[in-house]
Amino acid sequence: MQPTRRPLIAGNWKMYKTIPEALEFVRAFKSLVVAATHCDILIAPPFTAIKAVADRVEGSNIAVGAQDVAAEAGPGAFTGEVSAAMIKDAGARYAIIGHSERRQYYGETDKSVNRKIRAADGEGLLPIVCVGEPLEDRDAGRAEEFVDRQLAEGLRNLTVEEAARIIIAYEPIWAIGTGRTATPETAGQMHAFIRSRIREMFGEKVAEDLRILYGGSVKPANIAALMNEADIDGALVGGASLEAETFGRLVNYKENR
Ligand code: PEP
Repeated sequence: MQPTRRPLIAGNWKMYKTIPEALEFVRAFKSLVVAATHCDILIAPPFTAIKAVADRVEGSNIAVGAQDVAAEAGPGAFTGEVSAAMIKDAGARYAIIGHSERRQYYGETDKSVNRKIRAADGEGLLPIVCVGEPLEDRDAGRAEEFVDRQLAEGLRNLTVEEAARIIIAYEPIWAIGTGRTATPETAGQMHAFIRSRIREMFGEKVAEDLRILYGGSVKPANIAALMNEADIDGALVGGASLEAETFGRLVNYKENR
């Protein structure tokens, strides 16, 4: 049976954009993607701009997500943290979890990823769980082994129902913000591997329905070739999501080939 996975094109704005800058983006972007019915569209602004962006895109085909979420459900004494309930209250529907920059600079581990998935899912946010290997592991032929460990630890003890609600983003660290995209074949092979592991962990139905996004220097020029791969179901985009016209072209990858 052919899977019917709906593509998701997601923009991760990282620590860019004040509220006025975010709203200026939305003003320009909305009309560029108004006719896009082939995919889901997501923007993940910094926490400070979530509410303003969510209010402005309400009723449109653009959803909003957070770039991180507290592992604690709260409310509670966790200075600096933002809970899933607060993120949802601000109008977001998704939460990116375990981005490699969070792992590299802020001590995110597979254990905290696991807790954050539960916290997000508990509030009805859709977790986008990031995995991906560093260059040393890719070069040493250990890329699958590395990602396998992240999946085993990060998704440990999730129920089949919980696993059915997650999205995975494969983002090889060597491709993030470097301009060095994985070839469609390299990415496609890892996506197929991830799906096979999910099948072993959670069964055929979860694996076939799971959306696996590719991330790492995705641009309007390379998105169509990536999306041609059977196991690539969308993209998580950093740099190329910051400018409305560029991200609009990326979302409209079917027309811009
Ligand atoms: C990202 O931040 O998830 C990312 C993939 O960044 P870039 O598209 O800039 O490589």
